[in-house]
Amino acid sequence: MTKHLFITGANRGLGLTMVKQYLDSGWIVTACCREPEQADELTSLLEKHESLSVFQLDVTNYQELQQLAASLQGEPIDLLINNAGYYGPKDSSLGDIDVEEWRKVFEINAIAPLKILEAFRANLKLATSSTLAILSSKMGSMADNSSGGTYIYRSSKAAVNSVVKSLSVDLTEDNIAVVALHPGWVRTQMGGINGLIDTHESVTGLKRVLDKLDMSQTGLFLDYRGQEIPW
Ligand code: NDP
Repeated sequence: MTKHLFITGANRGLGLTMVKQYLDSGWIVTACCREPEQADELTSLLEKHESLSVFQLDVTNYQELQQLAASLQGEPIDLLINNAGYYGPKDSSLGDIDVEEWRKVFEINAIAPLKILEAFRANLKLATSSTLAILSSKMGSMADNSSGGTYIYRSSKAAVNSVVKSLSVDLTEDNIAVVALHPGWVRTQMGGINGLIDTHESVTGLKRVLDKLDMSQTGLFLDYRGQEIPW
């Protein structure tokens, strides 16, 4: 049976490449982004892919989220990728932390992924075996933090890692595998031009990891090569 991907932040960067690769693999793709009317590259894919749908979703707009969930009621989702993310101010140094920006980053990176799961848990349950993948970052790893700093982004990804861990326990009864993923340091708007890999290499790796994922791996933090990252 044709599989169904639901993904956020699909208009650019890693999200857009994920949409392309899953469409090329024959999946049905529900792609969400904040401003579909501005998402030319994403919406141009609609012309040649009948299995693609594009919806407006700001992941912190919980009313919009509920409306979208209601419109997709009864549709099984095999893979839900929480990809949308926000880095916040590049130069947030100790002594000058922007609290408003911290709240915003926290809401997008840590709170919204849980609210999205709440909205689409029933859809994931309808698939025979399903996966919830949350784009985290090695920057959220306590064990990997030897350079300090980056308080805002690091803490938001550490928080979502904790969400992943609890969900992996709570969703076992639903047969939903839950993982945190590190995509590598990728050349996107967020990763910048010095990133070590491009979106194609990252997504090819992440897809390989997700293709063979099963319940025995629920609750893991994996990078795009399938290697486990210490929390
Ligand atoms: P980009 O900055 O290129 O893209 C971020 C995406 O998230 C955009 O589509 C953006 O939409 C969307 N987004 C941001 N805020 C919201 C919101 N409130 N509602 C809906 N969508 C939103 O980042 P990447 O593609 O590089 O990153 C994707 C994920 O991978 C993120 O979670 C990031 O933290 C993670 N990651 C990336 C790394 C890298 O090196 N690139 C390394 C480690 C992790 P819009 O265009 O509307 O702003």
